[in-house]
Amino acid sequence: MNAAAALLAAARRIDRFDAEVLLAHLLGTDRMSLLAGPVREVDEAAYEALVGRRAGGEPVAYITGHREFWSLDLAVTPAVLIPRPDSETLIGAAKILRGDHAPATILDLGTGSGALLLAALTEWPRARGLGVDRSLAALAVAAGNAARLGLSGRAVFIESDWGAAVTGRFDLILCNPPYVEADAKLAADVRDFEPAAALFAGADGLDAYRVLVPQLAGLLNPRGGVVLEVGATQAGAVTALAAGFAVTVRRDLAGHERCLVLTR
Ligand code: GLN
Repeated sequence: MNAAAALLAAARRIDRFDAEVLLAHLLGTDRMSLLAGPVREVDEAAYEALVGRRAGGEPVAYITGHREFWSLDLAVTPAVLIPRPDSETLIGAAKILRGDHAPATILDLGTGSGALLLAALTEWPRARGLGVDRSLAALAVAAGNAARLGLSGRAVFIESDWGAAVTGRFDLILCNPPYVEADAKLAADVRDFEPAAALFAGADGLDAYRVLVPQLAGLLNPRGGVVLEVGATQAGAVTALAAGFAVTVRRDLAGHERCLVLTR
């Protein structure tokens, strides 16, 4: 079957964009080259298998094994949350926070795929970073991403429950913790496929903040700052947990309050 016909059939079952990304993945190319390029032959059964997985709710990023974040190509597996464009707000906020003062040391609490830490290390080419996670499977994904991006020399990953196993202080702390309420109605592809430990944080979604926010002062250099992701309605509640810090709220591209910047 040729690619155009295969796409047409797939787009009756799944989102057209997803159908294009999956076909490009199957053909070992990217979506733009696929659409711009000559008509190709497609292994119908192999494509049908990918489309069937998507039709069953599996996120495209887990099917292709990749997701772009801050223009970096990251590997993802079901052991890690799929990096969201919303979280790019944190990197933008960190750049504004630091201005001309590049951080020398960066800590990423709950690093998952490594997205935040690796994006920050590409922004500050002399910085060194520590990424921690409670999940060994996530740490393996993050370390693999660091290696593929040529950042292994500046990134270390260790197993730690938030800051419990971390020693030293940092110029910049990044963190996208789980913050979804236990009974929240998530989209099925998120709820059924992404790691619950990276999403849910108790009845009000604030349990992770209650543990990690009190640790921040002891992990931060005197002139350092923290950039912390929050759920769209949580900025006030998390600010209340951050007693002793000056707090700035930043919005994501959708206009939601997405990130708190904490300084002393
Ligand atoms: N933003 C994610 C979602 O809505 C949640 C990520 C998180 O809990 N840190 O699915």
